Amino acid sequence: MFITRAIFVGSLVVSCPAVRAEFACDGVPVRTLAADAAVEERVCAIAEQAAQQLARCGLPLTREVTIRVVDEGLGDGCVGLYHCGQDLIEILSPQRLEVQRKEQSLFSNLATQRFFDSVVVHELAHAAHDALPCPSGVCLATSEYLAYNHQIMSLSSVDREAVMASIDMDRIVQHDEVNASILFFKPDTFAARAWAHLNQREDACDYLRHIARGDFTFDRERP
Ligand SMILES: [Zn+2]
Repeated sequence: MFITRAIFVGSLVVSCPAVRAEFACDGVPVRTLAADAAVEERVCAIAEQAAQQLARCGLPLTREVTIRVVDEGLGDGCVGLYHCGQDLIEILSPQRLEVQRKEQSLFSNLATQRFFDSVVVHELAHAAHDALPCPSGVCLATSEYLAYNHQIMSLSSVDREAVMASIDMDRIVQHDEVNASILFFKPDTFAARAWAHLNQREDACDYLRHIARGDFTFDRERP
């Protein structure tokens, strides 16, 4: 009996050589799983930096999040996905991202590795926000406002300038121009407006804290 079980377990191990355990990042409640250990290390380094920025602006990572780096399965044009309520993020691997990213987009001036890093930050912002209450009942555009702004905020100044080159930062963006309709139909326009709108506030981080707390919303409240 014992021998049979040992063989069975042994054969399972042999037949699944690619299965690896999730890698627990140091100092942040993040686990990651990628085909390449170097990518896992990169995800952890980014998560560590992102956690500080997120916490400073009202989005502490309070629940453990798993980040799976995948090569397919996210759907057309999707480079990262946060599964609401599941503390699970899926992100396209840098290799796959290189092939699949759009040539013309708000982030097309960024090198693929740095774009990948910024997507990690974007999705971690969603995860942190998901752990907070949503007082208005709908927090779709509000969550994207936080995610895109944290994504752009996390860039180096050179990369941020490259992104901002295609945004009209001088035009005053009204609050209701940042909404779910523009998010669905023109996500890049939503992100550009969100960044310009945030930069027109007196204190960006303080404003993000208010948004995270639900003091202001970019979604229509449920009747
Ligand atoms: Zn998003």
